[in-house]
Amino acid sequence: MKIHEYQGKEILRQFGVPTPRGMACFTADEAVAAARELGGTVWVVKAQIHAGGRGKGGGVKVAKSLDEVRQHAQAILGMQLVTHQTGPDGQRVRRLLIEEGAQIAREFYIGMVVDRAAQRVALLASSEGGMEIEEVAKHSPEKIHTLRIHPVDGLADAEAAQAARQIGLPEAAIAGAVTVLQGLYRAFVEKEAMLAEINPLVLTADNRVLALDAKFNFDSNALFRHPEIVAYRDLDEEDAAEIEASKFDLSYISLDGDIGCLVNGAGLAMATMDIIKLYGGSPANFLDVGGGATTEKVTEAFKLMLKNPNLKAILVNIFGGIMKCDVIAEGVVAAAREVQLTVPLVVRLEGTNVDLGKKILAESGLPIISGNDMADAAEKVVAAARGQ
Ligand code: ADP
Ligand code: MG
Repeated sequence: MKIHEYQGKEILRQFGVPTPRGMACFTADEAVAAARELGGTVWVVKAQIHAGGRGKGGGVKVAKSLDEVRQHAQAILGMQLVTHQTGPDGQRVRRLLIEEGAQIAREFYIGMVVDRAAQRVALLASSEGGMEIEEVAKHSPEKIHTLRIHPVDGLADAEAAQAARQIGLPEAAIAGAVTVLQGLYRAFVEKEAMLAEINPLVLTADNRVLALDAKFNFDSNALFRHPEIVAYRDLDEEDAAEIEASKFDLSYISLDGDIGCLVNGAGLAMATMDIIKLYGGSPANFLDVGGGATTEKVTEAFKLMLKNPNLKAILVNIFGGIMKCDVIAEGVVAAAREVQLTVPLVVRLEGTNVDLGKKILAESGLPIISGNDMADAAEKVVAAARGQ
């Protein structure tokens, strides 16, 4: 689960990481009031969306007067901000962070991720702050220093200091950098993050170290332990179909193709998307209805897929192991009747009670296209999506 920059900074401050002072707001009037309350002469107006690269996309602007704060706030609020992380459609800006302007001498990068192979949290640090770390990794990988942190010992003072020196922070700023690195690590572990990034971490003219940006992604499997993180959830930033799916305990991920997939088991769902591609089609979603799919769940799954305006055909691919094919067939028929299917439906069933399942589909009177095996079903659904 992702959160906004201003929320990430709240967490960082709880762990002793210095950040500029700032306030979140929803209107231009609130932005001006926030700037007035913060005081000073330079403010930064920052779009809050769950994606990076906002600066380049025009979502971060410096203001030198309250009038400028208002102008930037008006321009940014409501804009469809496109960055390298939002995709071509961009993301609508509904919240702002008004922050005091920092005096930047240099920008650095620090980030933490779970390194599964090493079974540790990896600290990544670079002198090349403010840029996309993916670009640094591609063009000058030697500028990224990696330290895999021991899960029991944690991040020792000496290790943190060494990482800070490696990226070129001056001696006068090392103690501050150690506080930041250790604070970020504690936040990462205690809040059960999968990714935490400060880009840029800045050095000020008077050798202070400040987090100017904050990005977190939390392990959704651990959220039940962190109601304070769940409270940060912003549903406006999430895919509407995925939110709906989570209510019915369906694993659903929206994709940009036109063939809806309803499958039991994540592995089979992946294989189904692959075989659709193999036959020249493109999946509209990943959907795993799970092992115990009820008629209700299958109906909800159909409704979700049908909400997608790009949908041209649906492929149901079920392997009945514990799940019996006749039960699934009944679910599919009931669901198809309830939602009034508007696109061709191809069904491939295999496993326990398959003959009974096929009979139920055939006798339903619904225009269901039967697939004999996965390849046959994929070929048929791709043709159906093309109107053939
Ligand atoms: P993003 O990574 O989404 O582009 P950032 O928060 O990193 O957004 O901001 C982009 C750039 O804007 C930073 O690299 C920094 O140069 C500048 N910036 C951001 N916040 C401030 C601030 N409070 N004071 C001065 N400059 C800032
Ligand atoms: Mg940034």
